[in-house]
Amino acid sequence: MSKSSTHGSIMGRWLAPMLATALLPIASSALADEELVVYSSRKEQLIKPLFDAFEKAHGIHVSYQTGKEGPLIERLKQEKTKTPADLLMLVDAGNLWYAGTQGILEQTHSPVLNNQIPAQYRDPDGRWFGLSVRARTIVYSTDRVKPEALSTYADLADPKWKGRLCLRTSKKIYNKSLVASMIHHHGESGAEKIVRGWVDNLAVKPFAKDSHLIKAIEAGACDVGIVNTYYFGRAESSNPDIPVALFWPDQSGNGVHVNISGAGITQHAPHKENAFKLLNWLAGAESQKILGSMNKEYPVRGDIPWDPQVASWGRFVADPMNLAETGKRQAAAVKLMQRARYK
Ligand code: FE
Repeated sequence: MSKSSTHGSIMGRWLAPMLATALLPIASSALADEELVVYSSRKEQLIKPLFDAFEKAHGIHVSYQTGKEGPLIERLKQEKTKTPADLLMLVDAGNLWYAGTQGILEQTHSPVLNNQIPAQYRDPDGRWFGLSVRARTIVYSTDRVKPEALSTYADLADPKWKGRLCLRTSKKIYNKSLVASMIHHHGESGAEKIVRGWVDNLAVKPFAKDSHLIKAIEAGACDVGIVNTYYFGRAESSNPDIPVALFWPDQSGNGVHVNISGAGITQHAPHKENAFKLLNWLAGAESQKILGSMNKEYPVRGDIPWDPQVASWGRFVADPMNLAETGKRQAAAVKLMQRARYK
């Protein structure tokens, strides 16, 4: 995270926990009459442009602390009523759902948010709201795979893909959420059969990152895999002729597994009204366009045009299940993947 002058008026509130946990001070670059503080697991380059635009529109300065989701959630639990944080921004519904169960997010009632954000992308209890959408879909080698050979996530368990499949590690929450969605649709034993088939078909051991998986397909180490769309977006941006393409599975079934980045107002937010304003603004047209194009994701709202590169990948049917369901099934998904020896 970047560090510049720490906002004077929050210093007192901030100093004690900062010294206690030796974290860096909140990034802050300007003085405004009003303020709020965000804890974010999204990287600085993906949030600062939004906060700058929000300050321009509303004269409310946003200070922020970035870090991994686990420590940020723990921090909020420890700080309790003394937290300087007003809003928690996280990636993946699995993380948002977990934060929602830890007593650190308040129930927010906003007719605007409920209107603009489809129900599947927000907590039924109002503790968190999706702000951008990403699809976790199939990627394939355009040299070695005909798209007609692809159909569903389950089909990647078929022996015809033996020695041809690449996966990211099961430890990444993206795959926990994907498998949780499969438990929702196929039941535990159905999902386990599919995951076992995937493991049988692996060409090489699972990767630490989606970007490594895409490189492996490009290099010929495997022919198909599963990644989040924006990782393909980045690879395609640096090589427009990349011999890899996206495929939308389950189009006549459950649809493509989608997930979100999102946010919720903290239980003990010192600037609750400002946090409410920011959260509503993040679902507004201006920020939705920024959110969609910055990281090659999809706006959470259906009425906002897609980034041209994202649009070039085509429309698809997304899985309509409420993402809170993937949170509830995270633990079962982890156990299932262990049983299937998916590392
Ligand atoms: Fe990611």
